[in-house]
Amino acid sequence: MNYNPPHQVPLVAASSFVFDSIEQGMDIFDGVEKGHIYGRFGNPTVDAAAAKIAALENYGGEGEVYGLFCASGMAAIATVLTGLCRPGHVILTQGDLYGGTSALIDDLAPHGVRRITADLRDSERLEDRLAEHSDLSIVYVETPSNPTLRCTDLAYLADLVHHYGARLVVDNTFATPIGQQPLLLGADVVLHSTTKYLNGHGTGVAGAIVCKDKQLMDEVFVPNYRLYGGTGNPWDAWLVLNGLKTLALRMERHSSNAQQVCDFLLRHPEVVTVNYPGIPTHPDCGTIDRQMKLHGGMLSFELKGGLEAAKAFMNRLKFCTLTPTLGDVDTLVLHPATMSHRSIDREVRLANGITDGLVRLSIGIEDIEDIVDDIDQAIGGGKK
Ligand SMILES: *Cc1c(COP(=O)(O)O)cnc(C)c1O
Repeated sequence: MNYNPPHQVPLVAASSFVFDSIEQGMDIFDGVEKGHIYGRFGNPTVDAAAAKIAALENYGGEGEVYGLFCASGMAAIATVLTGLCRPGHVILTQGDLYGGTSALIDDLAPHGVRRITADLRDSERLEDRLAEHSDLSIVYVETPSNPTLRCTDLAYLADLVHHYGARLVVDNTFATPIGQQPLLLGADVVLHSTTKYLNGHGTGVAGAIVCKDKQLMDEVFVPNYRLYGGTGNPWDAWLVLNGLKTLALRMERHSSNAQQVCDFLLRHPEVVTVNYPGIPTHPDCGTIDRQMKLHGGMLSFELKGGLEAAKAFMNRLKFCTLTPTLGDVDTLVLHPATMSHRSIDREVRLANGITDGLVRLSIGIEDIEDIVDDIDQAIGGGKK
């Protein structure tokens, strides 16, 4: 079958690939000849999406980079954690992790993997914690964090983690490679829920793993992914390939819109706190200036009236959508205490700044006036 190629990466819907001869089949199985075998091992559309995400994470950097496209963000995270951790190992992480990731780490406890939680931004206490654990295998970071947008210094942390012989794994879902590039700051592995900004349109669930260590990719992540079946499907990969074409443009607009919503909220008399990396007085502003190229589209805020005011606000929204995801072109609203962080103990939640009245916004790329007007009318009460 010979035809001139399509100008877009085709969506290859196939469970397996044909060999010309038994000799070619053996060579492909042995890796002597490049080729596809079976859909769970790889597929042209899936591999194209993985390669493109990897290239974005290493853009401007040196050397080779490797990507794997996974069935979901959680499949990517599970492939990495179960690949790197053995009984007796310790994962050091922050308290305000994505709920699914937190539950997955707990789920590894019966396999002898322990979790230690610390404020990864508190360098002095962190060094003490690291020195205590000779069996540390991973330091796992989300920055900016969900939903309080705290930011961790990745370059500093990478040096420290490597000094103690562990690996730094970063979930870069919130910032995207357009906002920050953890591999270039020294991280060993970058993870994505492509469900969010990389797809960008809320049309599919998928994830990705990126690293620069060929051995780690080929000998740990790839076999793990094949055996546990975390492979992404071609349709989702195709949607992500489409989304990636506009990622840089979208992220610029998400960021500039979010900054304007942030400025509006900061001036509003009914608002007590706003969390956004673009606030000059953000507690982690030094880190943000050093490592982030854009401040992104995520912010959270608290109304004076606490839980009741937050509920009333969400129920009055007309233009923005109440839904538990983020990173779409549309503005999305979520209430962490009753939705994403529902399963977390109230005390732990409060200790991490996730109060009952906190509202999370994923600012879209719509006309800024439409977004601000809706937020304004939904807050009601006080005047700008
Ligand atoms: C959504 C999300 C995940 C999980 O990804 P899925 O695609 O839903 O499996 C992991 N980390 C972060 C930061 C997320 O927002």
